[in-house]
Amino acid sequence: MPDGIKADFPSAAHVIADRIDREGPIPLGDYMAIANDHYYASKDPLGEEGDFVTAPEISQMFGEIIGIWLADLWLRKGSPGHCHYVELGPGRGTLARDALRAMRKFGCHPSVHFVETSPVLKTRQAELHPDATWHDGMASLPDDGPLLIIANEFFDALPVEQFVATSKGWRRQMVARDRSKFVAVLSEDVAEERVGGSMSGFPENTIIERSPVSVEMTGQIASRVAKQGGTLLVIDYGYAKPGTGSTLQAVKDHMPISPFDSPGASDLTAHIDFHTLANIARTRMLKIHGPSEQGQWLKSLGIDQRAEALMAASPKEADTIAAAHQRLTHVDEMGRLFRVMSATSIDWPEPEGFSYGEE
Ligand code: SAH
Repeated sequence: MPDGIKADFPSAAHVIADRIDREGPIPLGDYMAIANDHYYASKDPLGEEGDFVTAPEISQMFGEIIGIWLADLWLRKGSPGHCHYVELGPGRGTLARDALRAMRKFGCHPSVHFVETSPVLKTRQAELHPDATWHDGMASLPDDGPLLIIANEFFDALPVEQFVATSKGWRRQMVARDRSKFVAVLSEDVAEERVGGSMSGFPENTIIERSPVSVEMTGQIASRVAKQGGTLLVIDYGYAKPGTGSTLQAVKDHMPISPFDSPGASDLTAHIDFHTLANIARTRMLKIHGPSEQGQWLKSLGIDQRAEALMAASPKEADTIAAAHQRLTHVDEMGRLFRVMSATSIDWPEPEGFSYGEE
């Protein structure tokens, strides 16, 4: 690779370019995995001064409601001992702080486990949770008690693959290099077995997205919840029914940019496939609730009353609290785009909050 290009590239782009130079075009999922590993390893991307803002960073109400939801399930199960709070990709640890505070009010004191790969975010998490235990994956999670697992905006950061319908059959979406730029190209070989069928019924240029990493992780956690008891709560943007089209997007400084512009310096995400994740959990005998809209779910669990109580306690903060409540719940903000789904052990009680029905 010419030296000038090397010097201009941030490190993820350098790693990707190097691999393409050695092996030829690489699968989109590999590109996304390298880019996001570098991205999360290099900085704390959350908050107004970062690239994006997540629900727990908007208001304490979000984590508190999740904590109450977990505590309610735990109480109705008869307050089992040796319970573990597990969070996947806990960011700054804010959600865990608010949820655990609410849970303790109900006498629920689980041990705390974080699945996190970013050293920068692990350091942030340790500031709020010095007693937590960190894991690189699901295999080392404790196996001696029920698991209360939360994943907020976690699965959207995991790599996706894409397959495109062409006149010659399904082709895999790959990433190649055109001088200093990354470009999308299609594989030369057929990718039918990966899509799980022929192209019949799909017009040319149809894109199918898959996230094998999400499928693998969900399978691992669901097996654990089925065996040990407990629940998995997933909150994210995504689709409830099988769909087509690309949902890959990149965000930098709160603005959308091309996913191929700044790998490792922008947040690459894709919508999550709730339908597939639910089916995987069902095959492990878990009971699915949702996906429901985040706004309805939070409201049915009492976020309106919580906002009123906080406003009454701090009248000076009333406008800020009202704005946060609006942002989390309104259909034009996070209320509809984000969905909530739980996968719960069959011998645990029915979780609250899903009475508005499923999509
Ligand atoms: N849940 C947090 C942060 C969301 S950002 C919040 O709502 O604020 C995504 C989080 O997932 C980050 O903590 C990131 O470091 C982590 N992450 C991304 N890919 C991961 C992977 N493959 N394994 C473990 N953690 C990962």
